[in-house]
Amino acid sequence: VDCLRGEDLSRFTTIKIGGKADYLLFPSSYGEVKEAILFSKEKDLPLFLLGGGSNTIPGDIGGVVVGLSKLRGMKVISEGDTFYVEVLAGTPLKEVISLSIKENLEGIYKLAGFPATVGGAVAMNAGAFGVEFSNFLKEVLYVSWSGELVRARAEELVFSYRSSPFPKEGIVLSCTLELRKARENVLEDFKKIRRVRKDSQPINQPTSGSTFKNPNGNYAGRLLELVGMKGCRVGNVAFSEKHANFMVNLGGGTFEQVKALVEEAKRRVFEEFGIVLEEEVRLVESCGSDGWKVL
Ligand SMILES: Cc1cc2nc3c(=O)[nH]c(=O)nc-3n(C[C@H](O)[C@H](O)[C@H](O)COP(=O)(O)OP(=O)(O)OC[C@H]3O[C@@H](n4cnc5c(N)ncnc54)[C@H](O)[C@@H]3O)c2cc1C
Repeated sequence: VDCLRGEDLSRFTTIKIGGKADYLLFPSSYGEVKEAILFSKEKDLPLFLLGGGSNTIPGDIGGVVVGLSKLRGMKVISEGDTFYVEVLAGTPLKEVISLSIKENLEGIYKLAGFPATVGGAVAMNAGAFGVEFSNFLKEVLYVSWSGELVRARAEELVFSYRSSPFPKEGIVLSCTLELRKARENVLEDFKKIRRVRKDSQPINQPTSGSTFKNPNGNYAGRLLELVGMKGCRVGNVAFSEKHANFMVNLGGGTFEQVKALVEEAKRRVFEEFGIVLEEEVRLVESCGSDGWKVL
């Protein structure tokens, strides 16, 4: 497996912030994914996964980071009005969406406009405009933390709002999507969604999307706006003027500044409304929230 040491992770995140990784591996097959798991076991180090880095902000990682960008490609089988798309985890979601527009397929095009990989979209159960990635899933092929290859039907896996069994259960290697031809023309709706995003989100600045999940019956962006977080800045990181729940890197922002800004936002919202905001973005440190130590 290709292995880099002491690599700066800011290159691999969409907000362009990140510390250094002790080891950074890019497996390109099941065998190499398994090798990466064994490597972290041998070294007794935690292992972290990185897809498109569009929902992850890492600090210094005293462990093994496994990037999935080399696991790329898809296979399409059409049966009547149904398209079965088998797609590797590191493939940009955008490629699936392009196919769905070309073939006029239902629903999945609503997930246009964010730089996810397919594996990251499974793990986060990414969603927008009333659809979630799991709505289209037929099957997931993953490597368990003991290195076995597991094929699971979507019904066997529990998905909910921005939540899935991954990476807790293992590393997603590929998935099969079941997509149907739409009756109406999807192109107009697709364009509208692109426009709405462009108008309401800072998509031309380095960002990692929504910082917090929406609390039950409320919007994180609205609460943040009410406590004056819109435009609020710590060092070179700020909540966007365009969307209060999106953090942006104004240039040279750091992980420490991100953490300070996140804490300030949580404090204000708790003090004002008694609501504890939960991070959607994964802030990763050595043995932090997203580290599964492989035993
Ligand atoms: C401008 C912008 C807009 C956004 N809008 C939305 C939106 O509307 N809706 C939405 O849901 N999200 C949105 N996001 C957030 C983000 O794009 C999604 O969460 C996306 O699914 C993350 O994919 P990724 O490949 O970048 O994952 P990463 O950030 O690389 O990883 C995220 C998590 O997934 C895990 N993971 C990644 N790959 C795998 C794998 N192969 N196997 C197991 N676990 C894995 C990682 O461990 C990590 O916990 C937005 C982001 C940006 C920058």
